[in-house]
Amino acid sequence: MSVPVTTPAADATADGDVSPWQPTACILCYINCGIEVRVGGDDGRRFERIRGDKAHPVSTGYTCQKALRLDHYQNGRHRLTSPLRRRPDGTFEEIDWDTAIAEVSERLGAVIAEHGGESLFYYGGGGQGNHLGGSYGYAFMAALGSKYHSNALAQEKTGEFWVDHRLYGNHTIGDFEHTEVAVLLGKNAWQSHGIQRARTVLKAISNDPDRTLVVVDPVRNETAALADHHLAVRPGMDAFLYAAMLAILVQEDLVDHKFIAAHTTGADELFAHLELVPVADYCERAGLAEDQVRTVTRRMATASSVSTLEELGIEQIPHSTLNSYLHKLIWLLIGSFAKPGGMNLHSSFLDLTRIFESYSTPEATPVTGTRVVCGLVPCNVIADEILTDHPDRFRAMVIESTNPAHSLADSARMRAALEALDLVVVIDVAFTETARCADYVLPAASQYEKWECTYFNFEFPRNVFHLRAPLLEPLAGTLPEPEIHARLARAMGYLPEEELAVLRDALEEGGRLGLAAEYFDIYGVSTSVDDLKMGPLALYEVLGPTLPDGARAAAVLWAASHAVAFEHEDAVRRAGIEGEGPFLGEALFDAILESRSGVVFTADAYEDTWHYLDTSDDKIHLAIPELLAELDGLRTEPHPTVDAEFPFVLTCGSRRAFSANTILRNPDWRKSDREGALHISPGDAAALGVTDGSKVAVTTKRGRAEALVEISDTMQPGHVILPNGYGLSYPDENGKPVVVGVAPNELTSSEDRDWFAGTPWHKHVRARVEKLASPGVGLGPHDER
Ligand code: SF4
Repeated sequence: MSVPVTTPAADATADGDVSPWQPTACILCYINCGIEVRVGGDDGRRFERIRGDKAHPVSTGYTCQKALRLDHYQNGRHRLTSPLRRRPDGTFEEIDWDTAIAEVSERLGAVIAEHGGESLFYYGGGGQGNHLGGSYGYAFMAALGSKYHSNALAQEKTGEFWVDHRLYGNHTIGDFEHTEVAVLLGKNAWQSHGIQRARTVLKAISNDPDRTLVVVDPVRNETAALADHHLAVRPGMDAFLYAAMLAILVQEDLVDHKFIAAHTTGADELFAHLELVPVADYCERAGLAEDQVRTVTRRMATASSVSTLEELGIEQIPHSTLNSYLHKLIWLLIGSFAKPGGMNLHSSFLDLTRIFESYSTPEATPVTGTRVVCGLVPCNVIADEILTDHPDRFRAMVIESTNPAHSLADSARMRAALEALDLVVVIDVAFTETARCADYVLPAASQYEKWECTYFNFEFPRNVFHLRAPLLEPLAGTLPEPEIHARLARAMGYLPEEELAVLRDALEEGGRLGLAAEYFDIYGVSTSVDDLKMGPLALYEVLGPTLPDGARAAAVLWAASHAVAFEHEDAVRRAGIEGEGPFLGEALFDAILESRSGVVFTADAYEDTWHYLDTSDDKIHLAIPELLAELDGLRTEPHPTVDAEFPFVLTCGSRRAFSANTILRNPDWRKSDREGALHISPGDAAALGVTDGSKVAVTTKRGRAEALVEISDTMQPGHVILPNGYGLSYPDENGKPVVVGVAPNELTSSEDRDWFAGTPWHKHVRARVEKLASPGVGLGPHDER
């Protein structure tokens, strides 16, 4: 939906006062729609009105309903206002910032002295629209000698990113605005977005008789209800469907031979594997009629353009990396690439995977030898790297703006791992489940109290970067994350003034251009090289204080602006940025600093997508031997059977109208589905003897939880769903922490993960559902664990 825009006059209070609309962004999903906020209320800090920002270059005024509830993130009893130190008895006491910085520095130094910097593990460093802190956090941790790190992307996207890099060396995005056939795989875009202006775009495709919407999902969700074709795949069997579709393309000779010959390698090897796929058998295993699969495949093959989007529904189930590979092969074999409506590579203001890799040298973890993918340690092995007597185990964690004790598989084991460490430092706005396991909790300013931005720049042909100014002063007692990292680095001696003096002198004598000559001589021009390490913090110290309006944390973007202008000079110029040589980077940085609603930083024609291809021979490499072997293995995989002990497949963490990531902690933000009901099919409900509002026990091999039931005819038999973002602790009016809903990872197991990328199977958990007494009685808030 698009939020109606109201005039300032209509928003005036009775005495005529009108606070200004201030541009910023929604931070509840990676689309990061531009919004405008009016702050006010008794303390002048409430988000009284929120609307879409028409000036945002991409979202152009669009938001979904979730953005309108952001006051529940900004204000509430979850906010921390003082550093906390854990007492020996497990309770916490408030300490001042100087004490916190001194003690954390000393404790980190002690761990390094005894076990080396490699024993420090960094987790997080940002979230949706919250990336500046991580830019400095990675630099700080690298200075300490830390080599291992991870974040939520290793729970979902590392398999896909790895496949992207093997195929064409970069990231692709679908052109859903213009595509003839849109295909969503394990993605309920109506609720979880992933496409700019998702609901507007989906409705336009659905309403156009010449365009086709295809949804692959076990559930007839809101997006599937709009679709021309809903492929209601059997839960967890997507790999068989995509293999069958590819085989149909080859066996019916529907591939684009001209595209394959001109732009790819490895086709013959790939086709040899696909010739062996038994289409009818695979469709049957996927729970789909062969005719429907053939019809959809032919529609895609004969369309002028196809755009696709995969998401957690296929990335957090068995064969997840293979799913990503097979899905991408479909649009590659039909040549829907580098053209309007097709899949396109794009520029990045900062390429996250390259940054992660540049700060991570090992290829495997120190204890279990697990593959490090895209520079990130698979989340499901983190506890295994701690709960051991191996001499190289992780000894300390710095955890920033994320909540692994709630969001990683097997929460109980993750809590035990945190308790086993010598030191846990948590940086966050709230006293999260993870903060409860920390030795020190350092309270961060909220995303609306500091300069912030998102590094998820996934647009093509016009890509956008949005630096956001603070709407409010930091809440008393809090600090922006970049300042926390800088204080720790200073206290530990990693920002010696004699080294900074070189940069200070260059800036003083030659302005920013003088600084550029010196800085890039020291640190290099690329944003992805190892030398960058302390560069961000040096810029924070030297350039940061000179930036206007207190935009100190934006200093790291100055280096990135030069790197983008250097790497994509023509595209930056086409975006309207003017300048020669280093003046282009300076002009881009100025544009980013001055804009409050986002800047188009690259503009391309569709054929320019080839410019972003990053392979050794400028070809797309279709054959990935590791995954072709897994494809072959599908033929001998046993047919799905019902597990007598755990007869249901539980999907943990679906997106709904009132589910969001865990930064929304106050359950009052929800207008409905307060407890996050378990969705179940009518037939299964009847067999269990439950009705809407009944209470059930959900048991897995790892845990047990109680949930309320909502019967839904969108569900397949044998499949149940719990939403994401529930089961969080939040203080009641007396300060007593209570929990509403089920925390999904109390039910998941860390050993259930993809063999290659280690991504968890959160969307495919074997479970048992049993009726409990007290039908119709709500669970209500319950004590925290
Ligand atoms: S689509 Fe909704 S949740 Fe996502 S950024 Fe926009 S307003 Fe926020």
